[in-house]
Amino acid sequence: MNHRLLLLLTMAVATTARSEITVLIDHNSTDDAAPGFHFAHLSSPGTTNLATDARIRIVDGKGDSNSGGTDALQAGYPPDDADQPDRNFFFEAGSSGGSIQVDLRKVIPICQVNTYSWHSGSRAPQVYKLYAATGTDDGFKARPAKGIDPASVGWKFITSVDTRTKYDDKGGQYGVGVSDTSGKLGEYRYLLFVCSPTETSDTFGNTFYSEIDVLDHPDTGPTTNNIAAGSLEKPYVVHTPDGKYQITIDFARAPDLKDWAETNLAPILVEWYPKIVALLPSDGYTAPLKFKVNIRPGRGVADTSNTRINAYTPWIKKEMHGESVGALVHEMVHVVQQYGDARRNNPDAKRNPGWLVEGLADYVRWYLYEPQSHGADVKTNKIDTARYNDAYRPTANFLHFVTEKYDKDLVPQVNALMRQGNYDDSFWTNHTGKSVQDLSVEWKAHLKETGGK
Ligand SMILES: [Zn+2]
Repeated sequence: MNHRLLLLLTMAVATTARSEITVLIDHNSTDDAAPGFHFAHLSSPGTTNLATDARIRIVDGKGDSNSGGTDALQAGYPPDDADQPDRNFFFEAGSSGGSIQVDLRKVIPICQVNTYSWHSGSRAPQVYKLYAATGTDDGFKARPAKGIDPASVGWKFITSVDTRTKYDDKGGQYGVGVSDTSGKLGEYRYLLFVCSPTETSDTFGNTFYSEIDVLDHPDTGPTTNNIAAGSLEKPYVVHTPDGKYQITIDFARAPDLKDWAETNLAPILVEWYPKIVALLPSDGYTAPLKFKVNIRPGRGVADTSNTRINAYTPWIKKEMHGESVGALVHEMVHVVQQYGDARRNNPDAKRNPGWLVEGLADYVRWYLYEPQSHGADVKTNKIDTARYNDAYRPTANFLHFVTEKYDKDLVPQVNALMRQGNYDDSFWTNHTGKSVQDLSVEWKAHLKETGGK
């Protein structure tokens, strides 16, 4: 083989093996920005992609209370104007940003990551560093703390994104596509976005991130948007009869649940929220005046974070005429509990036991909201193995037993202690004269007598 041929072959190998990260930045000026996010090069935010079913959470920093939370970033829910805080995710005003982790739940091939944002001013540009990880490296830290270089704890640095290098601080819509010339970014389970403010001359420099899409194919450019502009159902806003509380039910991502949400769910929520607030008072406490129920794709039943309830469409559909409404009454108890207050107001706050937090919510559901369903009865063949601290239904049954036998105010009192961060097991002795273990023995004997009621 002559030298020239060898050289050519070597070059060919080098060329095919070379892979390089590409960052594509698309921009629509404030005047041109329209619902649907139509860009010159990048596809519009899509309804289904690898992030649709991912878990997205804040690793460092704090989401702004006006923002839609990290689930606003998930598929098919982009804002339809330039100032829709609750359809975006952004870090707290005045803060120095933070990081967001996307957990795809398993290691999978990723071809492209697209991020979208929209605002009329300095909250439009995107400034972040992107990392990825399989999560299997020794010393991997899924949630690297502020100041820790993710690359030192099992993350691979992918690229830096700064749309200001191309468009300065202009408002409008941005679409950023991160891909690799090889066609594949790699196989990963986790992505980490370490986000910085776009400016610090005022407190409004944290980007309004509208969506993160993770693609298993290279983005082939603009496609007919599968979310027709302006076609999303507007959230349904209702007030309690006394006008004091406002509840927003957002079913933009589950339009076929509109009737159920308006007819079956909303009347129960407005009736029961004030009742739960009245049941669970404590000194100096004011229950949230507003909260939101997001009906959205995802796994599981429902969950609550502060004043936002997520209800997951597949389960809700399955239980539309079954357990769905009761499950949301349970979540509404979490909105009223606000046990996060304890740590904000009391530096010595004790951690509340999860079994009791969930048991209390289920107590309200099964014994006050729907006692006729007997949902927390213990099956006779389960009485022997039932434990008072099994959370949810068994704990609800236990709370009901102790309430009936010893103290009608037991639940409000234990709630007040937990909200102040002052609960421990001495509560039971103080209120009933018996330890929780002794009460449990009595409870089990009672279950045997009544057949689990
Ligand atoms: Zn719960």
